[in-house]
Amino acid sequence: MTKKILPTTVVGSYPKPRWLNHLIGEYAEGKISNEIMEAAYIDSIKAVVKEQELAGIDILWDGEMRREEMTSYFAEHIDGFKIYGEVRVWGNNYYKKPAIVDELRYRDELTIPDYKFLRETTKNEIKVPITGPYTIVDWSFNEFYKSKEDAVYALADVINEELMGLVKAGATYIQIDDPAISTHPDEIEIAKNSIEIATRGVNAYLGLHICYGDYSKLYPQILEFPVDQLDFELANKNFKDIEIFKKYEFTKDIGFGCVDVHIRRIESVGEIKDNIKKAFTIVEPKRVYVDPDCGLKLLPSGVAFEKLKNMCTAAKELRSETA
Ligand SMILES: [Zn+2]
Repeated sequence: MTKKILPTTVVGSYPKPRWLNHLIGEYAEGKISNEIMEAAYIDSIKAVVKEQELAGIDILWDGEMRREEMTSYFAEHIDGFKIYGEVRVWGNNYYKKPAIVDELRYRDELTIPDYKFLRETTKNEIKVPITGPYTIVDWSFNEFYKSKEDAVYALADVINEELMGLVKAGATYIQIDDPAISTHPDEIEIAKNSIEIATRGVNAYLGLHICYGDYSKLYPQILEFPVDQLDFELANKNFKDIEIFKKYEFTKDIGFGCVDVHIRRIESVGEIKDNIKKAFTIVEPKRVYVDPDCGLKLLPSGVAFEKLKNMCTAAKELRSETA
């Protein structure tokens, strides 16, 4: 992995270009061919990679141009899932909720082709984000396994196969996105076991991204998860959670969410520098990865770019100050 101090990275998603959203709509209505749609995805990934490079991101991903959301995208490619119609969640938001209707088995490569394409598209380091088995099961119906726990472990085996394939393809940094863990702290043991199964034998730097939760319910147990880095959303909660992490020694690297993805205001370089310095009260600078709180997909793309650019400038200035 990177030897650079305070490396900058992204959690995963980036705003889709407006023309891509337009084409996705046309494609859904059968108005354009698979070929055109595929070419559009490739062009959008190249554009988003370039934007991240221009912003100064050290470790990047493809912005998740092909993903509409983080559950059914994966479920559609795994045997044993069936996708029902759209389900209403959180007010007026809808998503396609998957159902487990049979034994879960590995079928298609999930992120490997995207990784391979990105490897040819950028010289930067790459981080591959993938939704964790606990979260996918939590956000699906279980109509097959006796318990949620059984379903989670079966899916963890499937994810393990994918992660082994990713490493074989050359991936060195994998991030498991598991936001559902923070909504069920009572099931933290199941979540931990699922990460153990999913990462068994996986020889890569491993991160675990958890956003939107009450971290006091997960800490310090979360330190026992077999990952190298814990990546948290901190800016949105005005860094209050740092007090929680001070109670016990933070024994992992931290992915330090230092830019708020829920507001459009562009934090200044000075403000972000002050934010990043708060990480040094928990761990040494060499254990800090600098990133936004979460994916940037809901922001206007100009705002996302400016936030990343200021974040990278802040990290660069601190790097020379701490060197
Ligand atoms: Zn997130």
